[in-house]
Amino acid sequence: MQQQTATVMEGARRTPILDVADVVVAGGGIAGCAAALAAARNGADVLLIEKQTMLGGLATAGLITYYLPLCDGEGTQMSYGIAEEFLHLSVRHHPEKGIPDCWKAGSTGAGGAVPVDCTADLQAQRTKYRYETRFSPGYMALLLEETLREAGVRILYDTRICGVHMDEKRITHLIIENESGRSAIAAKAVVDATGSAVVLQQAGAPVRDHGQGNILASWYYYLKDGRQVLRELGAAPSIMEEPFDTDAQFDGAGSSGKSRLWYAGTDGGSVSDFIAATHEKILADLRAGDREVTILPTMPQLRMTRCLIGDYELKEKESDVHFEDAIGMCGDWRKRGMRYEIPYRSLTTSTIINAWAAGRCISADDGMWDISRVIPPCAVTGEAAGTAAALTAKKGPAGRAIPYEALAAALRAQGQRLTLSETGR
Ligand SMILES: Cc1cc2nc3c(=O)[nH]c(=O)nc-3n(C[C@H](O)[C@H](O)[C@H](O)COP(=O)(O)OP(=O)(O)OC[C@H]3O[C@@H](n4cnc5c(N)ncnc54)[C@H](O)[C@@H]3O)c2cc1C
Repeated sequence: MQQQTATVMEGARRTPILDVADVVVAGGGIAGCAAALAAARNGADVLLIEKQTMLGGLATAGLITYYLPLCDGEGTQMSYGIAEEFLHLSVRHHPEKGIPDCWKAGSTGAGGAVPVDCTADLQAQRTKYRYETRFSPGYMALLLEETLREAGVRILYDTRICGVHMDEKRITHLIIENESGRSAIAAKAVVDATGSAVVLQQAGAPVRDHGQGNILASWYYYLKDGRQVLRELGAAPSIMEEPFDTDAQFDGAGSSGKSRLWYAGTDGGSVSDFIAATHEKILADLRAGDREVTILPTMPQLRMTRCLIGDYELKEKESDVHFEDAIGMCGDWRKRGMRYEIPYRSLTTSTIINAWAAGRCISADDGMWDISRVIPPCAVTGEAAGTAAALTAKKGPAGRAIPYEALAAALRAQGQRLTLSETGR
């Protein structure tokens, strides 16, 4: 896309206020769904706004159907609460792969506790097999919607958040566009789970792009021997313990016709180029293998685009580090033996007092971003952000007044474990 420097002056306008909510969740990916569910369960009136026509974000519309591990690869579970609930939800109907037996036994999915004193044999199995699964994207999208609806979350689909209205350090309204035109939603508290910190950026919070950008990814489903099979073109560039059986990175020409390897995904031109290059690659692959395509991704498979520069930037080197304000934990999907506590401050910014980041746009260095962007940590940070937003909204207009202790107590009561000392290791 050609860079334009000329501008037009838009006239001042009055924007109708369409709706009011205690907590508005921006984006209905895994993080947004976890945030909305947690906020609703904490008594908030929640409105979730999603620009696609289904929930799940990259995990469903983006066809990323690997629920990566909840454990550390050495037999210890790291992520609990809604992260575990969603893993079990994802395999309720026609999963692509079940949960390993050794993890079914002691899971907290049904609200029980993982036995700390599990047998040596079980521990050995849990070290061998990680707590992960693969799911059907269509079922997962529908089940997420059913779960949120049952919890009382209101969902506004096919709606793009395109601006914010501020009162000093507080977001008072989100500006949206959809079939009704342009309108505003009044909010007491906001969770930014857009995957690229869209709301926080609009609100003036400090944000940054990923240093390297994204390699092209073109995952799609095709028919093989009467079954749907996921074709993963464009595996993660980071070194994986057990690499997927896929092509290595490749380059592709987008709508601009310019061949390139890395895409920022933080401006309209590069997102569009990425999508066009993805389509080109899929078409060539289908033709080469004479395959019948069954499902195409309906959102760009960009891994790391824009994130918050929050009150704390979590770092890859901070495995096994304890944080006084931990809101949950995750392992490293690429390596065994890595254990991270996630500080609350990586979800917050002192520049805005009633908004939180969740999912793949929390504050992390580039290495940690590659760890925190996958499904389990996205659910953990979503649950924490949604809970914090609901507790804050209950307090009224005082802003982020809830003490960390109140948030931690609520999260523990929901089944989340916050610190390494709670894993029983
Ligand atoms: C190629 C690829 C392979 C991956 N492999 C794996 C894997 O094997 N396993 C794994 O666990 N993870 C994997 N991931 C990462 C993981 O899928 C995602 O990072 C994670 O699902 C992100 O969740 P999220 O909720 O933070 O963001 P997203 O899923 O991006 O959700 C954000 C949502 O916000 C919506 N939104 C954005 N902007 C707006 C707006 N302005 N208005 C309204 N709505 C908006 C979007 O439509 C979207 O639904 C992979 C990612 C990619 C790209």
